[in-house]
Amino acid sequence: MFKPEPSNYLLLADISNESKPTNFWNNHVWTAEELGLKITPGSSETKLYFHKIKPAGLVSWIKKFIFYRTSHNAFSTVAGDLKGIKAFGLFLSKSLPNLININQINEEIITNYYLYLRQQNYQPGLIKKYLLALKIFLDTGNGQNWFNIPCQFISNWIRTADKEIKQIPKFIPDDILRQLNQHFEFLPDPVQRMVLVIQECGLRVSELVSLKFNCLQQDSTGGWFLNFIRSKIKKEDVIPISNELAGVIKAQQDYIRNVFAKKYQYLFCGSERYFKKREVHDFIAKPQIMPSQRFNDYLNWLSKKFNICDSSGVIWHFHSHQFRHTVGTRMINNNVPHHIIQRYLGHSSPTMTSVYAYIMDTTLKKEINDYHNKVVNIAGEVIKSKFPELDNSTDLQWMKKQILGEVLPNGYCALPADFTCSKGNACLQCGDFRTSLEFLDKHKKQRERTLQVLKAAKANNWQRQVQINEEVLKSLNNIINELEQD
Ligand code: SF4
Repeated sequence: MFKPEPSNYLLLADISNESKPTNFWNNHVWTAEELGLKITPGSSETKLYFHKIKPAGLVSWIKKFIFYRTSHNAFSTVAGDLKGIKAFGLFLSKSLPNLININQINEEIITNYYLYLRQQNYQPGLIKKYLLALKIFLDTGNGQNWFNIPCQFISNWIRTADKEIKQIPKFIPDDILRQLNQHFEFLPDPVQRMVLVIQECGLRVSELVSLKFNCLQQDSTGGWFLNFIRSKIKKEDVIPISNELAGVIKAQQDYIRNVFAKKYQYLFCGSERYFKKREVHDFIAKPQIMPSQRFNDYLNWLSKKFNICDSSGVIWHFHSHQFRHTVGTRMINNNVPHHIIQRYLGHSSPTMTSVYAYIMDTTLKKEINDYHNKVVNIAGEVIKSKFPELDNSTDLQWMKKQILGEVLPNGYCALPADFTCSKGNACLQCGDFRTSLEFLDKHKKQRERTLQVLKAAKANNWQRQVQINEEVLKSLNNIINELEQD
């Protein structure tokens, strides 16, 4: 059984009848594995540490509480609880070193703790986390009849912290992004690519660091999609991405293949070394997922080195989640409908999902179905995607149109992601051009114009013009004939 420290004996919890063996309770380090909990990808925390808890007698209560929490919560949640309750212990040991019984904790002590947190000039977010952890600890103990300590009033302070949090902008202002993009070439290449992915897609950092090597998918029009696991709901999802970003991901795939051949299954990796003499040292790839915090460290290193400051001259502190808010804010400013933003960012709200489903079913489904009925190239050949589910997903195609817009006025460009067009946009003579039924009228009008131009070119004996326009006419005939077959 857990060994008490005599001076704090009355503060001890009875943990002798719990299901784990004595050495488990005596141990001051618990691993996620022995608790049967999974670690979120990219998380560097895999253990819970109990050594430095003060007052020492509080350790048994915290262990009892944390063990109780592990039965219903993720490891990261429990680790957060532990940090919060440790902060309370630190306060108790400083302000009430002689406290010997947990039931001595009362409203006055808890109020003093709140005032202490505020005096530390902590961010409202941190204050809220600490208060929540304490409230959960006390609610659990009261509910389980471990002790009886009033704690309802803590909710008011949590609400106050919440209001303060809402007043702090969570997105990254344009000026900060401009400064980031101005200097980000000083980051290692793989980290630069991580920044580009998170800037466009607003992934959670755990989703970013654990992207699979084969995360790119393409529909029949050549549009690119990112496939990944939503870390909160542990489900696979797909979102449309720009051609430029697909190019960035291809470059990262080449990097990973060059470094690890086929032995590594993720798109991004960690580095052997990180900082040397306060500089970001060369990135020495190691076949492991990068810890989430390391990604923030890179950005904050850049922020300090190049003095990336907000409008009041304060150095900007990056946090990966700010990119998520930035993407959401940018979409709202670009008038992307609310339900599309929810779908894109993977917010799980049944109400919003049903609104979305209603709109899709009643007004847009037909349009989208027509649009993806058939995709052809300039030879009139029907193009099939390796991922037909992308073509057939009304949701995804609608989202792609909403977010990325149309690339060409009469169709799509299926140029590989790491190439730029060098054909002077002569799409109707290009093997990478794709089009579909929704552009049929445009093709017919262009055929009429081409016939007129061809007639004039022939009359004037403009050989080059005749040749070009005959090629264009041939492509248009192929396209129109194939599309009209339906
Ligand atoms: S010419 Fe070809 S590569 Fe260039 S934009 Fe048109 S379809 Fe794409």
